[in-house]
Amino acid sequence: MARKTIFEDCDILVVGGGMAGTGAAFEARHWGRDLKIICVEKANIDRSGAVAQGLYAINCYMGMQWDENQPEDHVRYARNDLMGMVREDLGYDMARHVDSTVHMFDEWGLPMMKNEKTGRYLREGKWQIMIHGESYKPIVAEAAKKSADKIYNRIMITHLLMDETKENRVGGAVGFNMRTGDYYVFRAKTVIVAAGGASHIFKPRAVGEGMGRTWYAPWSNGSAYALPIAVGAKMTQMENRIVLCRFKDGYGPVGAYFLHLKTYTQNANGENYEKKWYEHTKEMVGEYIDHHPTPTCLRNHAFIQETMAGGGPIHMVTTEAFQDPHLETVGWENFLGMTVGQAVVWASQNIDPKYTNPELTTSEPYVMGSHATCSGAWVSGPEDLSPPEYFWGYNRMLTVEGLFGAGDTVGGSAHKFSSGSFTEGRLAAKAAVKYIQDKKAEGVKVSDTQCENFKEIIYKPLENYTVGRNEITGGTVSPSYISPIQGLQRLQRIMDEYVGGIATNYMTNANMLKRGLELLEWLQEDLENVGAEDYHQLMRAWELKHRALTSQCVTEHTMFREETRWPGYYYRGDHLKLDDENWHCLTVSRRDPKTGKFTLEKVPVYHIVDEKEKKQAS
Ligand SMILES: Cc1cc2nc3c(=O)[nH]c(=O)nc-3n(C[C@H](O)[C@H](O)[C@H](O)COP(=O)(O)OP(=O)(O)OC[C@H]3O[C@@H](n4cnc5c(N)ncnc54)[C@H](O)[C@@H]3O)c2cc1C
Repeated sequence: MARKTIFEDCDILVVGGGMAGTGAAFEARHWGRDLKIICVEKANIDRSGAVAQGLYAINCYMGMQWDENQPEDHVRYARNDLMGMVREDLGYDMARHVDSTVHMFDEWGLPMMKNEKTGRYLREGKWQIMIHGESYKPIVAEAAKKSADKIYNRIMITHLLMDETKENRVGGAVGFNMRTGDYYVFRAKTVIVAAGGASHIFKPRAVGEGMGRTWYAPWSNGSAYALPIAVGAKMTQMENRIVLCRFKDGYGPVGAYFLHLKTYTQNANGENYEKKWYEHTKEMVGEYIDHHPTPTCLRNHAFIQETMAGGGPIHMVTTEAFQDPHLETVGWENFLGMTVGQAVVWASQNIDPKYTNPELTTSEPYVMGSHATCSGAWVSGPEDLSPPEYFWGYNRMLTVEGLFGAGDTVGGSAHKFSSGSFTEGRLAAKAAVKYIQDKKAEGVKVSDTQCENFKEIIYKPLENYTVGRNEITGGTVSPSYISPIQGLQRLQRIMDEYVGGIATNYMTNANMLKRGLELLEWLQEDLENVGAEDYHQLMRAWELKHRALTSQCVTEHTMFREETRWPGYYYRGDHLKLDDENWHCLTVSRRDPKTGKFTLEKVPVYHIVDEKEKKQAS
């Protein structure tokens, strides 16, 4: 079938219009007044990404103007929470700029809660400030819309284009409009990937009746990882998936409850179970258990152990705090501005948190780079902070030239959240403009053949379906193709059962991972035969392919790190202890685009902040 192709040439192409993408579009215009800036979004930028339904808190704000925190403090905090494994150059760089981002949000009309006594932003915790954030996303989207030359909604980017004159240099991206089916070719001098994290790669707790309900946005499908992995960009810390403790069945957030309402958890017998697991945890991770605050994974660990020992269900004690009418209002509003579904779940289960302590659960694992975890692309840091191993010319540039990343895309820089992701988008865009101004993107060439080849590949699932459907005599099972949902469920089971999902209480080992990799390889083979009956299913097919490639990378990394660095996120049963002697390092992988084989290496983790202080002291 003849299909319309739309060509668009630009200087900066932003893939994904979420928090990082909107930040990138905004900042690119600031530094690159005359540049052509295009943003391509899979959904609609006004309500897309992880912040689509709003937030109740901005989780990363230093408050430097009042000396509440300094960037060094945030680096120490993130380092502690991630059991030592962060890129401190990236974290510091984000933290020193994040306040200016939040001040712009304030100017743009985001309703910020204020402390009546001090006039400062109302703190929920040391790093979080409270907002009435239902319209958070439309507000930042407006800034991007006013900055970019054009925003394309409803286009899914499936592949990056590569320059044909210089090896390892990006040349743009291609994708399709999932409403019209048109093929889009974006030839670009630089590409900023800001396509969010990855949910639904591990089997979720909610299947069947609740399928689709996950904690991280269900539409986050790992494009942020698959796009760079496919062209040979290096990735880091992909084993560092995250498991969340959340209100059961609705995944309602617990942050405001712990921090603002001062609620606490207990086991079914009303005991503080975390204390019970202290010695056991110390045996596994040593002095890390004595750190303050307790790293998120270790709190999960106590939860998981207590449940396995028969102490469940675990409850959040809300009945005390909810006697205060103000706190009761805050408790409900917290959901209404962010996770309405949790309030609905409670209503359907006759739970009024004023009288009944609601149940908590630990989620299935997610892969992302902006929360209490730091999986993602291996990027260059800023010139003034990064040691040589971490610096190759342009801030937030991946190991592919001209290809930049921000937000969930970028590995090593945890605890960015919404404000930090927007900030990282700004940093990446500033560097991308400089890359163009330094004439590093001259002569990029993308041939029509490259574009035509991708066109054939992208629409193949439609072809598979059209041909194969004639063989079906009943139901949906075809001898010639698998549907995206069938492929997704197969992927989720592999990851769940072999790579440390909920089926095994997050446990895996080298033998299981080896088998998992085998099954993933066969899945990849079968995905050549995925069938799509319409453009929406075509999107599902490509989401699945991106998830599968991301999963392979996660499994390879999990295999490589022979220790249990983050108990509570996952366990290597064959190496059940944290091993600082051999594994106090970052893991970095590269997939060879020609052979599809991964190679992995250890890279030193530099504790820059404390080194700086040691030097000053001496
Ligand atoms: C339930 C939940 C609660 C949270 N709570 C808080 C909180 O209280 N405070 C806080 O500060 N942060 C919070 N966060 C974190 C915050 O939302 C993320 O850190 C932030 O959104 C990450 O930004 P990003 O741009 O990397 O990803 P996103 O904002 O998710 O944006 C990614 C964008 O890329 C698009 N995209 C994906 N694939 C493609 C493709 N192939 N082609 C084109 N476009 C694509 C997506 O549609 C999306 O718009 C929360 C997140 C979740 C899910």
